[in-house]
Formats: sequence, structure tokens, C-alpha cells
Amino acid sequence: MKVCKFGGTSMASAETFKGLKKIILSDKERKFIVVSAPGKRFKGDAKVTDLLYSAYDEKVKFGRAGDSIGEIINRFKEICTELKLTTDIEKEVREIEKKINQSTSPDYSASRGEYLAGKVMAEFLGFKFVDAGDIIKFRVDGSFDPDSTNDLVAELKNEKGGVVIPGFYGRMPNKEIRTFSRGGSDVTGAIIARGVDATVYENWTDVNGFMASDPNVVENPVKINTLSYAELRELSYMGASVLHPESIFPVMYAGIPINVKNSFEPQNEGTMIVKSVSGDTPIVTGIAGRKGVATITLYKSMMNNELGFGRRVLSVLERNGVSFEHLPTGIDTMCIVLSDSFLKGTEEKLIDEIKGKVNPDSIEVIHNLALIAVVGHGMAKSKGVAAKIFTALYNANVNIRMIDQGSSEMNIIIGVEEKEYEASIRAIYGAFF
Ligand code: ASP
Repeated sequence: MKVCKFGGTSMASAETFKGLKKIILSDKERKFIVVSAPGKRFKGDAKVTDLLYSAYDEKVKFGRAGDSIGEIINRFKEICTELKLTTDIEKEVREIEKKINQSTSPDYSASRGEYLAGKVMAEFLGFKFVDAGDIIKFRVDGSFDPDSTNDLVAELKNEKGGVVIPGFYGRMPNKEIRTFSRGGSDVTGAIIARGVDATVYENWTDVNGFMASDPNVVENPVKINTLSYAELRELSYMGASVLHPESIFPVMYAGIPINVKNSFEPQNEGTMIVKSVSGDTPIVTGIAGRKGVATITLYKSMMNNELGFGRRVLSVLERNGVSFEHLPTGIDTMCIVLSDSFLKGTEEKLIDEIKGKVNPDSIEVIHNLALIAVVGHGMAKSKGVAAKIFTALYNANVNIRMIDQGSSEMNIIIGVEEKEYEASIRAIYGAFF
């Protein structure tokens, strides 16, 4: 049996709802449907989730939610009228409005797009609606509670017919609604897939799957047909935005494949994400990257002999709530690669504290860098991959600021200046595809 998660663009209008119904009913295995809130119908349109965040902001600023509520009603009314549904959607939204006006966190408000979309979709399909709040559980500290959730989700296996579950949110022990981070319906879909022991987790979106690079940077990149969980993790963490980076964990542990598919082109096979890729795999599977990176480089003579040097540096980061991305080291140097956002407003304090802890000979901070990850299991077995990457960058006149090869040998990370990011991605893509 399959779990299908439909993203915001697939849920945007009555027209797209009709397309989804066809997809769902064309395969009896498609029994568990997880939905996002309606997304953008066209460029410049608003996502329902963004309208709901605005409704909460309005309540904070003016004491009550305002114009956004009217827009939300219109979005859903349009869908319900066209699909000839009986749900009194205006009444539902007005009830929600009252609760938003009493709420103290944006999560309740933000979650209602998925909640309403789930109700509407359930009626349209003739499936049962199961509220995510009843099965997706968070702990008192706000973290996701996989054990209680899994037991509750497993009970869905007893359902005879189809079930629709809203994505993105769950409930805390005090009954308050809590959301995952943005794009979190992908996570819900994966949790449901694990709980019901699905044969496959179909993640329906508006593209044909993962591309070997960002289509906004590389023209018409090739599609990746098969990808391992590990490669996906590397690529999505580094910026490939097709799936929420945390959505692989529940299915990865259970070994359930993810099939990313396009709801506007359902016959396309999309990308399959599996435990291990066998057969003829390409050397490089994909190239992803992101801007907004900084490095802090410490120099100290005889650093290699100084026991606890690294620990003391990292303890400063930990105390300040800063997480690092990479840690390339040399004999007398240590380089901390981190998101530039961590340094905004705290750079001076952080550097002073590091100086106080380890007394380096010098310390240098570089901003406006970008990281690029070249990912592929095939790299471990092949000679000349690094040479090809660096030759491509040399030919593109790019100055490499950092190199880090993961010990799994399935990724090579390169740091370049932000302004050379696009040229670098194109050059590396050109070398391998
Ligand atoms: N609707 C939520 C968002 O826009 C969650 C999701 O679509 O996955 O982030």
C-alpha cells in the first residue's frame, strides 16, 4: 500500500484537485493521502500558509486577524464551489479565525491550511479525514515524538477505505498544535509511510523529480532516476529543495523507497530514492550548493600538539548556540565553516571568546562564501574525480577557498566566493554531464 503526499502547487486550485483525484483513483494501492495547504496558482499568488502566518501577525499587531482571513475564505470557497462540495468552508474559517484571535503562537494558525485542505480533499475523494493532531505527537519540549506517533499511525492500517491526513502539524501533550518547519508536510508523509509500513512513499510535487543540479542555475539539468538516501541527504541539506531535508529519516530506517513524482506529468517515473543504488551508477549523481556561508580560520604554531584545542573552540560555539557545517583542519590551522547568519550580531563576541579560550596566533573571518557539494557514490571507486572538478573550476577562472572530502567519499565540498557560485556550479555540471 502506498502513501501519497501532495505539495502546495498540486493542491492550489479546484483544477489541480481534479487532477489529483484521477491520480489517486487510478491505483488502488494509493490509500493514505497526505496534503499540503493550497500553494501558488501563478507567479505572485499567495500561499495559504503565508496568508495564515499573516493572519497571526495581524492578530499580534492589531488584536485580531484581518484581511488575510477574507483571502483564505475566497481561496477555499473557489475550490469548494467548483468541486460542488457541501462543507461550509466560510463557517469553518470563521471558527478558526476566533481561535487565531485567542492563540499565543503562530503554529495553530499556520497549520489550518493543511487542516482545511485535508477536510476538503477527504470529502472530494469520499475518503475518511483523520486529523494529524490525533496521530502526530510532539513532546513537552517541542521535539517530535516518534514512538507515540508510530503506535498511533500504525492503527490506520486497520482502516478499510482511503484516508486523508493533513501534513505539517501535530499536537503537544497540552493539546496545543505544533508545526514542523516550513515544507514539513514532506515529513508528515514520511512518518505516515513508516507507521503504516507502506511499500512506497510517493511524494507528488510540481517537478519531474530531482535534477542533477539547480534548474535556476543550470539550463535543463538531467533528471536523476535513482538516488540513495545518503545522496539525497547530502543534496537536500546543501540546497536541493525538492524534499524537506528531514523527511528521509522515518522512511530510511524502515527501508521504504521514496518516489518523487510530478502531479502535472503523472506518467513520468520521477526519481526513486532507495537504500542503495546498484548497477551502473554515474560517478557524480548531483551537484547542489548554497550561499550565505562564512569561515573562521585559526592559526597557531604547534596546534597539533595542543591537547583539547578543538574541543575548547567548539565549546565556545556550543555555548553560543552556533552549529558548524565543516571543520577542515591543517597541522597548525583549524577552519570552521558555518552559516553566515550565525555571525550576524555575535561575531565580535564569538571571536573574543575563542581568543580567550585558545589564544591563537591569528584568527581570520571570511564572509560571503558559498558551498558546493558534488555528490555520488560512484566517486569512491573512480579516479580523477577531484582532478576533473578542479580543472573545471580552474578553466572557469574560479578561485577555490576551501575543499573538504567527506570520509564516506561520496561527496566533495568546495567553498567559493558567493559571486562565483553560479559559474562554479555550471562548470562542474559541464564536466560531468
Ligand atoms: N504549507 C506548509 C508550508 O508552506 C507546509 C508544506 O507545504 O509542506 O511550508
